[in-house]
Amino acid sequence: MQSPGETYPRTAYLLSLIGGILILIFSLIYAAILAVLASIVAGLGFGLGAGLLVGLAVVALVFGLIILYLALRLKSNPQGARTYGILILVFALISFIGGGGFYIGAILALVGGILAIVWSPPAPQYGPPMMGQPMPGQPGWGQPVAPPPPPPSMPPQAAGAARFCQFCGTAIPPGAKFCPKCGAAAPGS
Ligand SMILES: [Zn+2]
Repeated sequence: MQSPGETYPRTAYLLSLIGGILILIFSLIYAAILAVLASIVAGLGFGLGAGLLVGLAVVALVFGLIILYLALRLKSNPQGARTYGILILVFALISFIGGGGFYIGAILALVGGILAIVWSPPAPQYGPPMMGQPMPGQPGWGQPVAPPPPPPSMPPQAAGAARFCQFCGTAIPPGAKFCPKCGAAAPGS
């Protein structure tokens, strides 16, 4: 779904754009039909209900416009792709409940929103700064990063190295298992 070097979520943008347009067209037709119906039934005492339906159509129209706007923002500001994707998703979901864009528009916008959320900007120019690396202007920037200190380890005991009794401190000759002075067990044996 994402080709390398993509500077903006192209597929998400196109799907959201088409979805938004479909929702817009749908709501315009819907609003027009309802407006005619409302004017007819208004005389019969159903004006309020029809008016509410027209209101819903207007809401769908606004949602279509919002999704269109978010799709355009997706292209102009890919940095905020995740935020726009979430917003597109929310508005598409609500539109879907109202049958937005004959459902096709809402589904397209829905998929577009998800794609925008999962889309990742191309590395490295848009990526966040490396953790632990000083930013330009901060102290330490430009200086080589010191390598981490080697892990502490016990120096290997050289063969035949002098050992001393842990109780009396007497030197223990190599190979001896006990201290020649106090008889304590020699260390390392
Ligand atoms: Zn000893």
